[in-house]
Amino acid sequence: MIKTKAYAAQSANVPLTPFEFERRPVGDHDILIEILYCGVCHTDIHAVRNDWGGTMYPIVPGHEIIGRVIQTGKAVTRFKINDISGAGYLYDSCRHCYQCAHDAEQYCENGITPIMGGQERETGAPLYGGYASKLVIDERYAVKVPAALPLAAAAPLLCAGITTYSPLKYIKAGPGHKIGIAGLGGLGHMAVKFAKALGAEVTVLSTSTAKEQDAEKLGADHFVWLSDLEAIKTLYGHFDFIIDTISAPHDYNIYVNLLKVNGSLILVGLPGTPLQLDVSGLIFKRRSISGSLIGSIHETQEMLEFCAEKNIVADIEIIPVSRINEAYERMIKGDIKYRFVIDMATL
Ligand code: NAP
Ligand code: ZN
Repeated sequence: MIKTKAYAAQSANVPLTPFEFERRPVGDHDILIEILYCGVCHTDIHAVRNDWGGTMYPIVPGHEIIGRVIQTGKAVTRFKINDISGAGYLYDSCRHCYQCAHDAEQYCENGITPIMGGQERETGAPLYGGYASKLVIDERYAVKVPAALPLAAAAPLLCAGITTYSPLKYIKAGPGHKIGIAGLGGLGHMAVKFAKALGAEVTVLSTSTAKEQDAEKLGADHFVWLSDLEAIKTLYGHFDFIIDTISAPHDYNIYVNLLKVNGSLILVGLPGTPLQLDVSGLIFKRRSISGSLIGSIHETQEMLEFCAEKNIVADIEIIPVSRINEAYERMIKGDIKYRFVIDMATL
């Protein structure tokens, strides 16, 4: 077993504190990663605070992991010692269903094993995430980080990056598309960068007027403040797609009405509350609503290569792990530009 230092929450209503546990031994197909950086996703907060129900405590959050390979199992072929490797939310899946066999493991028909808060498929042992010193993972679920990417700013690509890249690729986002990005946080700011890099016309739909200049710097063509009802009215029927990255309960009907005929609202934000919908907004314009979960391992590797080629990383604020509770409070207030990344050397 591998002794691992971490930060964990012992229940929903207490701050995260230092915690120690043991990772499973390195199996034939596993790599052992010394974690260097871990991004802080709003999913970590939802899980710690039990927003979705079912959180098992203690929970070690963290699923935007970048680190150095320090040991490889006998049968490992893709990694060698000292390689820089990444891991995201997807820790394991059944490996034999249709989705697993077709590079879509995130939609595993037998359910995915998340890296945080899940259980090892074979032993049922609890799984702890990336606010930790080390990680053992099957090489099949790890990615190689291109040398061109700065490590700390690349960590958020493992979740915020792939979660926005995947739906944009699925809809073949490109020139001629008008795309709205709802919510300018960790996911939202990556969505702006990817949609622009793919050639779309991008509008940020935000509740924070203070983010207008940032939206432009990130590459957005337009910025609309959601409380500006006159500006909102001019956008009725405007967008081909809107990617909704909003972490808190909100009114989806506003965004549906901004779509063209046949337009689509793609949900990635997951507040965990039921959706109240006026279905006539869909029916009268043949609009649709869909969802999207992270991306496959293959697609995550492709996204990292795309980022290396196009010079895309997250805008980050590096923090020591001791400031994680403060970081959560700031994220809930929207006070973040645009992703916290924990320097794991501070553990
Ligand atoms: P984040 O950095 O905290 O950003 C969320 C943004 O939502 C905020 O910056 C804010 O943008 C907007 N927002 C917050 N409260 C709002 C409200 N009451 N009404 C309207 N807008 C509001 O969060 P994140 O890490 O990007 O994660 C966003 C969501 O995606 C979370 O629910 C997370 O669990 C989910 N997620 C899903 C997947 C997936 O695979 N589908 C993967 C990762 C994360 P403005 O200030 O611009 O309004
Ligand atoms: Zn995430």
